[in-house]
Amino acid sequence: MKQVTLGATGLRISPLVYGTLPLGPLQAQLAPEAGGRLIRHALEAGVSMLDTAELYDTYGHIKAGLNGYRGDVCIATKTHANDGKTARLHVEKALRELGRDCMDIVLLHGARIADPFTERAEVLETLLHMKEQGLIRHVGLSSHYICAVKKAAGFPEIELIHPLINRTGMGILDGSAKEMAVAIAECSLAGKGVYAMKALAGGNLIGEARASFRYVLGLEGVRAVAVGMLSEEEIDGNVALFSGQSLDESVWQELESRRRRLVIMERFCKGCGFCVPACTNNALEVTEGKAKVNEDDCILCGYCAASCPEFMIRVV
Ligand code: SF4
Ligand code: SF4
Repeated sequence: MKQVTLGATGLRISPLVYGTLPLGPLQAQLAPEAGGRLIRHALEAGVSMLDTAELYDTYGHIKAGLNGYRGDVCIATKTHANDGKTARLHVEKALRELGRDCMDIVLLHGARIADPFTERAEVLETLLHMKEQGLIRHVGLSSHYICAVKKAAGFPEIELIHPLINRTGMGILDGSAKEMAVAIAECSLAGKGVYAMKALAGGNLIGEARASFRYVLGLEGVRAVAVGMLSEEEIDGNVALFSGQSLDESVWQELESRRRRLVIMERFCKGCGFCVPACTNNALEVTEGKAKVNEDDCILCGYCAASCPEFMIRVV
């Protein structure tokens, strides 16, 4: 697969980034070995960047996928810590569990933080200090907010942006896809490396996957897209698409006919409401003692699953 450059970082990566969130306990709950086999399949097909996060709990899957692999692989993780001490612990855990001396990329996991530069100033400071110590190569920001992406353009310390963008704008918390595209272009002009997320709105746009990926890849400044993949067929289809190769129409029709959804096992839901504030998109509420999802607003990110003490939420 061709390689692209992530802004001024100079990092050379494949435009298809393996998003590992769906492999882990928040979604498909694959064993590390099974997830590792999929990651390895993608690496051997030319994918050279993996995206993960402290929250995703997929370091074991990545370690398994990399075992014995000799190619260069760029790994990005994220910390959702509220304070510097926890952020340091998150990065140290990533280094330990991935068996690395230095993380290629650590992002401040700012999905639903409107102003991470104020609200997570201590975390940012800690990440930059860890960069000085040689434990992190590049520091960046992931966000579902246009205002945060816009603000990042003026912060030279932020070298990478991982913004939420898709054709419909689903999941963007403060505006439209068009406005996010403008903010992304501003970041790119300022030298930030941009790799996008949620091009398929967590699976909601899977029926128009090809058009949805092409839309995001065609945006000014977007160099790569993180895509969660759960089968070899899906990986092969996306590798072909991102490489500009043709793929059998019937294979794509099959891939685009898959459906994913959020399942709340109502029978066992205690109605505690812990999942409601965990939702990035205000898609959950508790009514008559049970959590309910508004499917029109759900981007299938799976973040609510991590907040349920009863383990009653799954993306399937
Ligand atoms: S309901 Fe859960 S999966 Fe859906 S958007 Fe909210 S946090 Fe994400
Ligand atoms: S956190 Fe779990 S148990 Fe509590 S309301 Fe949500 S789904 Fe139900």
